[in-house]
Amino acid sequence: MGVGRWVPCRVMEPPTPPPAPEPAAGATSGPRPHVVWDWNGTLLADQQLVVDALNHVLDHHRIERLDLATYRAWYTRPVQVFYERVFGRPIPADEWQELDDLYHEGYRAALANVPLADDAHVALDTVEAAGATQSLLSMYPHEHLVPLVDRFGLTERFTLVDGLQGAGGGMKAPEMAAHLDQLVTLHGTPLDHVVVVGDALDDAAAAAHVGATCVLYDGGSHPREELEASGLPVASTLTEALQAAGLR
Ligand SMILES: [Mg+2]
Repeated sequence: MGVGRWVPCRVMEPPTPPPAPEPAAGATSGPRPHVVWDWNGTLLADQQLVVDALNHVLDHHRIERLDLATYRAWYTRPVQVFYERVFGRPIPADEWQELDDLYHEGYRAALANVPLADDAHVALDTVEAAGATQSLLSMYPHEHLVPLVDRFGLTERFTLVDGLQGAGGGMKAPEMAAHLDQLVTLHGTPLDHVVVVGDALDDAAAAAHVGATCVLYDGGSHPREELEASGLPVASTLTEALQAAGLR
C-alpha cells in the first residue's frame, strides 16, 4: 500500500478551527469523535441491488448469474479483482472500464426503491447526540452520490460528502486520506478520534491507513466470518457499531 497524503492530526494544526459546540447530554468526555460513514452496504441497504447490477453485467457477457451468498463469498477489493474471480480470467483496463460503466448503468436503473439501513436515521441521531461530527466517504461516483444522499434528506447530517471523483475499481485508502485532509483544511473539523464504519475489509484497510478506529458492519458485501477474521469489532446494526466505537 502506498503512502498517502494524510498527516496525523496530532502534528497538524487546522487553520482556524471553529469552537467546538457544547456536547449534548449523554456525550462522553475526552476527545471529540468524528465518524466517517461508508455508504453502499452500510448506510444504504443496497446489497441485493449490487448483486442485481453485477448480474446485469453478467447477462450482457452471457456469464452465469450470481446469487447473494456467492456474491458475498467471492467479493473482494479492488473490485476489478472481484470481477476477475467472477469472469475466471484477467480483465484488461479498457474492458474493465466498459464493465464498470455497465455495472453502474444496471445499478442506477434499480436504484429508485433502495432503502437505507433499518437504523440509519437512529445511528445518525446517535452520533449527533454524542456531540460528535460525521461525514460520508463512498467509492460510488460523486456526481451520483450527492443527489442520492440528498434524496434521502441526509445532506445536512454530514460535514462533508465525498464520492469517487476518478476511475472506479481502486482502493479506499488514498480517498480516506484525502477526505480527512479536506475535513481539516476546508471545514476545520477536529479529528481527535476518527471512527470509520463500513461493510468491507477495504474500509478497514482505509481506516488503518490513516490510523483511525474501525468497526465493521455485517449487513453489506462481506460475510461476517471474513470480517471477524480481521480481528476488528463486527456489528450487526449501525447503532451496535457506534456502541462498539464508544458512542452511545
Ligand atoms: Mg460499502
